[in-house]
Amino acid sequence: MTGHEFAGEIVELGANVHDLRVGQRVSGEGHLIGKTSRQSRSGKFHLDPETRGIGVNEPGAFADYLRLPAFNAVPLPDTIDDEIGAILDPLGNAVHTALSFDLIGEDVLVTGAGPIGIMAAAVARHVGARHVVITDVNPLRLDLAAKVADVVPVNVATEDLKEVMSRLHMVQGFDVGLEMSGSQAALDQMVESLVMGGRIALLGIPPGKSPVDWSRIVLKSLTLKGIYGREIFETWYKMIAMLENGLDVRRVITHRFPVSDYREGFEAMLSGKSGKVVLDWA
Ligand code: NAD
Repeated sequence: MTGHEFAGEIVELGANVHDLRVGQRVSGEGHLIGKTSRQSRSGKFHLDPETRGIGVNEPGAFADYLRLPAFNAVPLPDTIDDEIGAILDPLGNAVHTALSFDLIGEDVLVTGAGPIGIMAAAVARHVGARHVVITDVNPLRLDLAAKVADVVPVNVATEDLKEVMSRLHMVQGFDVGLEMSGSQAALDQMVESLVMGGRIALLGIPPGKSPVDWSRIVLKSLTLKGIYGREIFETWYKMIAMLENGLDVRRVITHRFPVSDYREGFEAMLSGKSGKVVLDWA
């Protein structure tokens, strides 16, 4: 069963669970980690090669009830309502990616204005980046990005990114790139647009094998970092703290449906005209 982005209320606890209570509002980390790998035993849970995914390898959240190890539950403070609680998984992807490198005072390029790219751009702004430019080929997504955060949207199908960079007085290029599209063209453009010694965090997953201009990366001394999931649980702490201190991503939710209208929800999502779509079981 599918579904890995969720929030809800605890209805039952395992016999040995003492630090959670029935009725408590929680979201949860959907990566179920093993306890035996070197990474897990040294506390790097997000790097555990035995990770299994809720909604991927284990029954998911498109159900009346979800079973989750107590370790994975993340209690929600009253300041975070259920619909924000339900998008903490993808917000966590955005936070993990955006906080990979120091962004204070830096010029940041986000490629891909899907919900995660938009939220990453909002995080970059929140933590003090100088200019945040977000690219896409879908004008509706770029309009949404500009509604969610104070970013410069660029449609790379119709606009010249280099012109935008010169308008923003970027002498050499962007300091940091956050790749959020999985598009070969976007990564090529990012490598081209970064400064010498620039840093790239890659979250987007390309559909297949994708050629990389390796020598360009070497000769520009770029640092590339792949990002999988969220840091367990450092990303969760940081994300909740930022939400409680003014990070506002609510407008990335563009559609809300009762769960009985799930078909419309999926259609909205597949149309390319939505941000996040939330289904409500209440
Ligand atoms: P999405 O598909 O909604 O958004 C991707 C966006 O990239 C789209 O709006 C698309 O129009 C845009 N795009 C396509 N070509 C482009 C180009 N040349 N330049 C700029 N933008 C372009 O995806 P999402 O839900 O926001 O997720 C972002 C990416 O992260 C996806 O590739 C997804 O598979 C991946 N992902 C990775 C992880 C992980 O753990 N690594 C987790 C979740 C999602």
